[in-house]
Amino acid sequence: MTKDDARLRRKLVEERERLLTILAHHQVEAQPNVGLGNHMADDASRAFDQTRELTLYRQSQKTLRDVDDALAKMDNGTYGICERCGKPIDFARLKAIPWARHCLDCQMRLDQGH
Ligand SMILES: [Zn+2]
Repeated sequence: MTKDDARLRRKLVEERERLLTILAHHQVEAQPNVGLGNHMADDASRAFDQTRELTLYRQSQKTLRDVDDALAKMDNGTYGICERCGKPIDFARLKAIPWARHCLDCQMRLDQGH
């Protein structure tokens, strides 16, 4: 692979740090405090915040797995290969999403549920 690999790896490492920060922060925020408010509206907005945070948390967990896998693939030499069709993933796509598992064709098909 090319010298850009180092840049992609750095991007992955940085993203990993960012995600770990989000996940660590969330654990602090995730104390069971719903229902302690005096007003219904407070509880509702707090529950909404928690739902939104949970979504962020789950997305962060999922992306962290993708990032970890991408770093592992860099180490074993399979980075940049589509997991579905085995073809190389477009480099522009990797620059935009360094942890992409699939080429654009396959991703579009997966998004459509095929
Ligand atoms: Zn593919």
